[in-house]
Amino acid sequence: MSMPVTVCVQELSELINLHLGPDFLEKDPAWQIMDSAISGRGLFATRDIGTREVILREPALLAGPKASQSTNLNTCCVCYCQLEGSEEEIMCPHGCTMPLCKACSSSERHTFECKLFRKWKPKNTTKISRPAIRIVPIIRCLFLNEMQHKLLYALQANADKFFKAEIKSASDCFEEFTQNRDVINYFYRTICAFNTNAFEGKSCVGGHEVLIRALFPLAGLMNHQCTPNANHHFDNGETIVITAARPIKQGEEIVTTYTKLLWSTLARKGFMALTKQFMCCCQRCQDPTENGTYLSALFCRAQGCKGIVIPVQTKTLQPDWRCTTCESVFPHSKMARYQDFALNTINNRINKGSVAEMITFINDMCPRFCPSSNYVLVEAKLNVIWRMSRPTTEEFNEDHLKCKERYKEEIVALLEKLGAGDCTLKKLITEEIL
Ligand SMILES: [Zn+2]
Ligand SMILES: [Zn+2]
Ligand SMILES: [Zn+2]
Ligand SMILES: [Zn+2]
Repeated sequence: MSMPVTVCVQELSELINLHLGPDFLEKDPAWQIMDSAISGRGLFATRDIGTREVILREPALLAGPKASQSTNLNTCCVCYCQLEGSEEEIMCPHGCTMPLCKACSSSERHTFECKLFRKWKPKNTTKISRPAIRIVPIIRCLFLNEMQHKLLYALQANADKFFKAEIKSASDCFEEFTQNRDVINYFYRTICAFNTNAFEGKSCVGGHEVLIRALFPLAGLMNHQCTPNANHHFDNGETIVITAARPIKQGEEIVTTYTKLLWSTLARKGFMALTKQFMCCCQRCQDPTENGTYLSALFCRAQGCKGIVIPVQTKTLQPDWRCTTCESVFPHSKMARYQDFALNTINNRINKGSVAEMITFINDMCPRFCPSSNYVLVEAKLNVIWRMSRPTTEEFNEDHLKCKERYKEEIVALLEKLGAGDCTLKKLITEEIL
């Protein structure tokens, strides 16, 4: 189900300009909004843009802490600074139960949401409830001005299976959560806009890393390509910055990726079908070898053959697979079982045991059942790089360090083959900023 959007490109551009305001709207922006051949509307370069050039900066229309299962709740809901103290000490002194710093608890911005939460009556006033914090960015839609409200309604909003669940689990945290149908429908619509357009990511505030979930109407217009020409990162809490990963020609569409760069074509397609209801037809998706990276490759099942098999067709989620050596063809069901086996076997090892054990497993065990180009093995190597780059008590010998360097070189070469340019992942690997 897709909720209708009636705003034309010109109207949308005007709303975006108002939203950017004097602080963010440049005199000659490098982008413009146009109808896209990929899907709906998109962003297009108004001039040639060089690698690493900043294409745009945008403030969030709605934002809040991500508050997912694995995140700490010791972040101020308004300014995202890190809070020190016990759960009770970091909660708003007025009784709304949001974690807040002293300055923000009495700020104008917090006043409205504070009143709202208190009106709904938190069931437990001595505990921060994760589902209640998770809907903070959503309920902030009630405090938008008329222009911002119009802009919110101009955004694509696809309903997935889960959009009602978030409100349900939040409402369970309160004695008297709103029963007003109009308000609840407005929340639903906002959740769908989030699920369709939002960005989630790390932002650094005062040297402390927070996970933020935010709606950026302009950046959210970027369409998906599996090897995109633009990167994004969060800057100082609620600002998103879009930069060029490679040179972009005037008139070219500026695109991002909604999936992981190093996933295989079927993994990307499966994810997109599930979350975005979108079937990508980019160049990479149409090349069964994925620019010669063979990220999907599995070993041939024919007796005696040591070749690799890759999916043949590119437009379906259940393709036949063919061996590049003996040309045997295998049905998708058989290869999907094999891929799942490789994925589970490798993922079960990740983060269990030491890095040294993981390296041995990757180098000695995996080659017996999984080609080295397969994306699951690539992700496992990436995991080793991350674990070795972070502070750890584990000690590494020369062989381990050599392996890490080899993995890095392999992945950088992969990104090169994909034509990923100066993508964020490459930066993370080569500069080890984590
Ligand atoms: Zn604060
Ligand atoms: Zn409060
Ligand atoms: Zn694609
Ligand atoms: Zn074969």
